[in-house]
Amino acid sequence: MKLSKYYMPTLREVPADAEIPSHQLMLRAGMIRSLSAGIYSYLPLGYRVIRKVEQIVREEMDRSGALEVLMPAMQVADIWKESGRWEEFGPLMVRFKDRNEREYCLGPTHEEVIADIVRDEVRSYKDLPFNLYQIQTKVRDEIRPRFGLMRAKEFIMKDAYTLDRDEDGLDKAYQNMYDAYVRVFDRCGLDTRVVEADSGAMGGSGSHEFMVLADSGEDDLAFCTECEYAANVERAEAALEISRASKAADDLAETSADTSNNPAADATTSGVEIEKVHTPEATTIEDLVDMIGVSPEKMIKTMAYVADDQPVVALVRGDDQLNEVKLRNHLKAIELRPAHPDEFPERFGSVAGFIGPVDLSENIKIVADRRIQELEKAVTGANEKDYHLVNVNPHRDIAEIEAFTELRTVQAGDPCPRCGGALEIKSGIEVGHIFKLGTKYSSSMGATYLDENGKTQPIVMGSYGIGITRVAAAAVEQHHDDRGIVWPLPLAPFQVIILPLGNSGDVGRAAEEIYEELQDAGLEVLLDDRDERAGVKFNDAELIGIPLRITIGSRSLENDKFEVQIRRTGKEFNIDRSSACSEIENLLEEIE
Ligand SMILES: [Zn+2]
Repeated sequence: MKLSKYYMPTLREVPADAEIPSHQLMLRAGMIRSLSAGIYSYLPLGYRVIRKVEQIVREEMDRSGALEVLMPAMQVADIWKESGRWEEFGPLMVRFKDRNEREYCLGPTHEEVIADIVRDEVRSYKDLPFNLYQIQTKVRDEIRPRFGLMRAKEFIMKDAYTLDRDEDGLDKAYQNMYDAYVRVFDRCGLDTRVVEADSGAMGGSGSHEFMVLADSGEDDLAFCTECEYAANVERAEAALEISRASKAADDLAETSADTSNNPAADATTSGVEIEKVHTPEATTIEDLVDMIGVSPEKMIKTMAYVADDQPVVALVRGDDQLNEVKLRNHLKAIELRPAHPDEFPERFGSVAGFIGPVDLSENIKIVADRRIQELEKAVTGANEKDYHLVNVNPHRDIAEIEAFTELRTVQAGDPCPRCGGALEIKSGIEVGHIFKLGTKYSSSMGATYLDENGKTQPIVMGSYGIGITRVAAAAVEQHHDDRGIVWPLPLAPFQVIILPLGNSGDVGRAAEEIYEELQDAGLEVLLDDRDERAGVKFNDAELIGIPLRITIGSRSLENDKFEVQIRRTGKEFNIDRSSACSEIENLLEEIE
C-alpha cells in the first residue's frame, strides 16, 4: 500500500478529550474517528488491526470446533420478555419500535436468540452438543462511554454459545473455550491473566475473565502473592481475619465457661451499656475518629440503599469499603442504588450522616458484613442529627440482621482465601469473559431435548465473549512508548514500512523495487511515498508502530545498503540491497 493514496489522518497534538494512551494514540495514528460519544468509525489502518484480531479469534474458534454463524443485530422484545431480561437489562439496552409499534432492541448480547434458534430444531440428545459463534457489532447504551474503544456504545464482539446435554458436557465445553481463549490472547501478543469473575446479569454458576494488566484498566483485580488465586475485586474474598486478641479471648471462654456459643451472653460479660454521645457535624468516619478517638475498625458504617424500591441498609466496618456487586448479588436485586439524603427521614426514619442500625423500623432489611460479627463496643449513627451511639454490640443491640455475609471489598494485604498469603491489587482491562450459564435461558425459553429415557430436559448452555475492538485498544495500552504505538507483530496493520528520503531518482526507484519484492514475498508493506519532510515521515512511522522500518537514502544507497530499524527496540543496522528481502523475512521471524 502506498501512503500517497492512503487515508491516514495523523495528528501531532494529543486530542483534549482522550484520557488514556490507547485512545490518544489510535486517534493520533488516524486509526479511528468518533462520530459521537462512544461511537467510532474504524479507518483503514485501524480496521486492518481489527481484522487481524478477528482472524486470530476465528481460527482458534474454528480449531476448537465452534461453528460460525451470523445472528441479527435487531432483536424482538418478545424473546427478552420470555427470559426475563427485558426489564433486567435496564437502560443499557437500546430499544425502539417499528412502524407497527412492535418493540425491538439492538442486541447487547445473543443468549435469547441462540435459545430461540435451537428450541424449535433440537429434539434429541443425539443433536447435542455443539457450539455456535459469531463476530458482530453489539450495542450497549453505556452511561459513561469513554476511553475510546475501551468502553464504547457500539463495538465488535465475538460471542460463542455452547449447548450441552448436562453439566458434565458444559464443564468440558467450558474448558475447551478456556483453552481456546488462552491461545487467542497469546497469539495476539497480549500478556493476560485469568481471574475468577462475577456472573452479573448473565446468571449461572461459574465465570472467568481474561484480563490485560494495564494501569488504565477499569477493573481492579486481586492476586495472591503466594498461590494461584486471582479474582476480580467485584468477587474476590479475603480469609476471615481473626485478630489474635479476640481469638485468645475465644479460647479462654471455651475453657472457662460454656458461654461461647451464646453471643448475647458474651455481650453482657463485656457489660457496658449503649450510650448516646453528642457528635456535632461528624458525618464521616474521619470526623468521628477526630471527635471521639475511636479507630475506624471499631465503627459500624451504615449504608442506606434502595433495592428494587425496598429500603435496605448494609453494614461494614468503618475501615472497610462496601462492595455493591456483592450486596446486589446477596439481595438478588435488579436495581440497586444508594438512597438519596431526602429519602432518609421518610423511608429510613433517620438522617443522612447519622444513620445507624439500632432501632430501625422493622420493614428495613439489614445485612451485615461478616466482620461486623466480631465487633464489640462499636460506634454507629444514632438516627438523630449530631448524635452517635457508642458501646454497640451487634448481637445484643441490632434487632434483625438478616444475614452476616461477605459484603466488603478486599484490600491489598488482606489474607488470601485459599492459602492466607497476602493479596495484591492490580488494574486490568477485561478482553474476554466466559460463563457457565446452565439452564437459565433454556428453561425460561423452553429450549429442551429428549434424553436417552425419553424424558424432557433443558439444554445446558455456556456463553463466551471476546471484545474484538477492545483487544485492539488493550494491545496499544500494553504496547506503546512516548513516540507512539509498538504493535505486536501479529496485530500490526503492516509488517514493514519503507521510508525513502526523496521519491525521485535512484532512491525512488530502489524504494519501488524493494516494495514490489516484499509484496511478492507475501509481506504486508506500506511505502511512504508522500511528498513530506523526512521528519514528518519518521514521526508518523513511529506513531503508527509498524514493527520494521526500511530507510532508503542516497548515501547508503551508494554502498548498496538499506538502513533497517526495529520499532520495539529502536535497534538500527544496515542490510545489503541485494539480499534485503530475505533478510527482512528473517528479521520478522525473529521478532515473532
Ligand atoms: Zn493464596
